[in-house]
Amino acid sequence: DTSHGPILYLEDICVSFDGFKAINNLNMTIERGELRCIIGPNGAGKTTMMDVITGKTRPDSGKAFFGQVHDLTRLVETEIAHLGIGRKFQKPTVFEQHTVFENLELALKTDKSVKPTLFFRLTGEQRDHIAQVLRTIKLEGSEHRLAGNLSHGQKQWLEIGMLLMQEPELILLDEPVAGMTDAETERTAELILELEGKHSIMVVEHDMDFIGTIARKVTCLCDGSVLAEGSMEAVQNDEKVIEVYLGR
Ligand code: ADP
Repeated sequence: DTSHGPILYLEDICVSFDGFKAINNLNMTIERGELRCIIGPNGAGKTTMMDVITGKTRPDSGKAFFGQVHDLTRLVETEIAHLGIGRKFQKPTVFEQHTVFENLELALKTDKSVKPTLFFRLTGEQRDHIAQVLRTIKLEGSEHRLAGNLSHGQKQWLEIGMLLMQEPELILLDEPVAGMTDAETERTAELILELEGKHSIMVVEHDMDFIGTIARKVTCLCDGSVLAEGSMEAVQNDEKVIEVYLGR
């Protein structure tokens, strides 16, 4: 049975660049439906870790199990995406010349052989899925607006919506509230909390106030491995974490 156990299990991952260990024996477990926040100073290895999970970077050693069966370190990026891991980078990359609805339509999960196009007839089920995603990303009523005319925050939500159209089991979000207004940040917290349970989510974020509003469990990375892990409070009060944040 593949529906039990953690969704992601990183085991002794090492990545080096020209002899420099960016990831150094990293071990981490993410449970199904969990919302995990990843913090850590610049250069801690957060991006490299996400690159390993998504197949962008192949580790020198170690394993990365997705749902117990698949060792991600043996797969390429497209295979990993098809398995159900979606990543949102910091910069939104929506199709600006298309409407919100069309962007979601273009992101629809389809058969690998069929590229989604705007000329293909949506099934009722697909329409329902788009409507549901529109509600989740708080763009209900804005479906006919051009994506290029959305605010920065709305573009970020639309991109999360495009990820959701793929029905990923695991979602990786890289600094989702960077550059957002306070109101947008608040709504993003609501959005992420709404996804919790339905998807497993990893959020890399520097904004501690934001993390405080969504954090369930926090992992602090430093020098390529886990420095501290636990509740937001426990990690924030951890002496090693305090030293790293004040000392650099
Ligand atoms: P973070 O995302 O936590 O800021 P990164 O994963 O980007 O950390 O980087 C971890 C370390 O690895 C840093 O010291 C960075 O300079 C180094 N690094 C990352 N990618 C490369 C690369 N392609 N070539 C050389 N060094 C790299």
